[in-house]
Amino acid sequence: MALTNYHIHSVYDDGKDDLEAIVIEAIHRGFKSIGFSSHCPMPVENSYSMKYEKLAQYCQEVRILKSKYCKLIQIYLGLEVDFIENVISPASPIVLFQQLDFTIGTVHFLWGKDGNKVYQLNTGTDAFLKTVKEGFHSNPAALIRTYFASVRRMVESSKPTIVGHFDLLKMHNNGYIVFDSDTEFYQAEVENTLKVIKANNSILELNTRGFYKGTSSEFSPSESILRKALELNIPVTVNTDAHSRDELDSAMTNAYECLREIGFTYAYALIDGAWNPYFITEYGLNTEHVYHPTILSEGANG
Ligand SMILES: [Zn+2]
Ligand SMILES: [Zn+2]
Repeated sequence: MALTNYHIHSVYDDGKDDLEAIVIEAIHRGFKSIGFSSHCPMPVENSYSMKYEKLAQYCQEVRILKSKYCKLIQIYLGLEVDFIENVISPASPIVLFQQLDFTIGTVHFLWGKDGNKVYQLNTGTDAFLKTVKEGFHSNPAALIRTYFASVRRMVESSKPTIVGHFDLLKMHNNGYIVFDSDTEFYQAEVENTLKVIKANNSILELNTRGFYKGTSSEFSPSESILRKALELNIPVTVNTDAHSRDELDSAMTNAYECLREIGFTYAYALIDGAWNPYFITEYGLNTEHVYHPTILSEGANG
């Protein structure tokens, strides 16, 4: 049994702890493999990104820790990279130049309908309502279309390793104050986007943060989306989007339980330099062996 987590922030961006403190805590908590994913610097004002001048130091420090602790834990270097059309993407030169082990592509910003201003989606209910009104002329359907089109565009054009918090759009939509995610229209957008993820071999993240912070009763993506992902055979990895070392395994047991209830038997992890499926156990993954579904079905037949 082992844990893995590839969505971890630190003092380099909007996280609380320094990298080494996180590594030591991860070892104590039985992690087999972790990945750091600081918010990539970008030329749009926001409260979370790493500063440009820290990027090289961040990459160097992760690499030093990787070799210092290699006998105890596997450490991977990544970035959470925003996708904002014509501004930043997981395929921007600043990202490619770092020769990362993985990227998490996320959409926190959208160009408004008029195309002259970007709006951030995760800064509170009031800001979200203002975005719908000002940026999308009070048309929730336009917001939904733009959001999922942006995720698809990100995946197709920059092929992130992982697609992070797939339905971030719902973050401030508690009680369906702006839109109803059960409509056929919303679900069709979801399905089209999942198909693009599948076609481009990206991994879908199950992000537990909203759930353990109490801002959502569900994970991101929602259970109905995870069901569709299973039908489409999309690889899923469980991350906590930790902003402190206490959050390294927050709600992870719940997440694996949720996946198993839906019907997933395995989830993906980056072990020994490659992404592979591993059998889901009660508390995490069996990282001793890569999971081979064919071996099981041969056994059942014979
Ligand atoms: Zn994010
Ligand atoms: Zn994050």
